Amino acid sequence: MGRVFLLSIGNELLSGRTVDTNAAWISGQLAERGIPTVGILTVPDEIADTVESLRLAVSKSDIVIVTGGLGPTDDDLTRQSLAQYLGVELQFHPELFESIAAFFRRRNFTMVDKNRIQAYLPIGTEAISNSSGTAPGIFARKDHARIFCLPGVPSEMKIMFNDFVLPRIIHSAGRQFVISRRLKCFGTGESMIAEKIGDMMLRGRNPLINCTVSDGVITLHIVATAPDSSVAETLIRKDQTVLCEMLGDWVYGTDDQTLAEVVGYHLARTGKTIAVAESCTGGLIAKMLTDIPGSSRYFAYGWVTYGNQAKQSELGVDPALLNKYGAVSEPVVRAMAEGALRKSGADFAVAVSGIAGPEGGTEQKPVGLVYIGVATPDQTMVHESRFSNSRPVIRHRAALTALNLIRLQIRG
Ligand code: ATP
Ligand code: MG
Repeated sequence: MGRVFLLSIGNELLSGRTVDTNAAWISGQLAERGIPTVGILTVPDEIADTVESLRLAVSKSDIVIVTGGLGPTDDDLTRQSLAQYLGVELQFHPELFESIAAFFRRRNFTMVDKNRIQAYLPIGTEAISNSSGTAPGIFARKDHARIFCLPGVPSEMKIMFNDFVLPRIIHSAGRQFVISRRLKCFGTGESMIAEKIGDMMLRGRNPLINCTVSDGVITLHIVATAPDSSVAETLIRKDQTVLCEMLGDWVYGTDDQTLAEVVGYHLARTGKTIAVAESCTGGLIAKMLTDIPGSSRYFAYGWVTYGNQAKQSELGVDPALLNKYGAVSEPVVRAMAEGALRKSGADFAVAVSGIAGPEGGTEQKPVGLVYIGVATPDQTMVHESRFSNSRPVIRHRAALTALNLIRLQIRG
């Protein structure tokens, strides 16, 4: 069949000193070829733990890929663990010893006694040659499973995976195509999304739908598996249509699209322009919009009117409004947006004022209170949000919310 289990060996992975990039890279390579990774386990540099993990991995899969612990030092115990798991002794291979010695001669390094261990393999296993390091890998079979042990050093591991492991896995795996699409949503929480889409997130379904959240953006991952890529694509498209209908305006884009890109796309498509007047976001919205190549076509003006004086002189906000309601208020943000629209002559203007914290909050106006105004020549809408968390999170969330409100306004 071709279900893969990955074992990452090393105390440095468990202490957080090293991030396990090997497992991420290998599972990514396999996923691209439609071979599922069914488990990843991080294992300490101990024989008993490694043997137990091998047992678990073989019970869950038919291909086990182990990385790490093949070096010459006393904490590198993968070969000893594999021998114990297979119930065999380690055997010295003079030809391996000679190739390790040759590697040292080429580099002009002295080979020490410790390196001798790398010329040992569990009886009945095969060496996987390592062209860029000293440690050969090991290929073993046990019952229905094939076990590939590779060094932990990412550069060596990758070459050996591509040259030795991948050809053997692809050759035998029943080929399945896995295609995925991401639907990006904004403006609600993940529990609401899950509630709306109901049974579509059930496990074991094809396509499989997973949900992740980052910085307020909810991503639905639609993953379809089929023997043929066009069948997988059809499955994805069907789910995508159904999900978009269920979630409506919350869905703003697909895959890597950002809210700013989608806003930029709609502005460019309709030939409209935008102006931005920011207080608590300090230019963040202007930055996000101008991060996009070609934004000069639609980005007309940006003000950072942080102080009240700037709000008056740059945007023409009436001082009486500021005195009566304060800078963080519905009337002032309305006046900022309308002032920005008037001064810039743009088709849309967005204005933001809020309390990013950590200080400056009151009972009526707590930290996280943000007003966002969107003005067009026909109307001005002001939206009140209450964000929580730290200053950078509140500012970022306010900027994304502003972009989302513009998106909804532009689309009409
Ligand atoms: P070698 O024989 O080349 O020494 P090894 O099999 O003994 O390799 P380790 O000693 O476990 O490998 O690790 C060597 C290096 O590779 C270390 O710097 C380690 O941090 C890094 N490394 C090991 N495992 C991983 C992993 N899963 N992801 C990223 N880096 C890793
Ligand atoms: Mg190690």
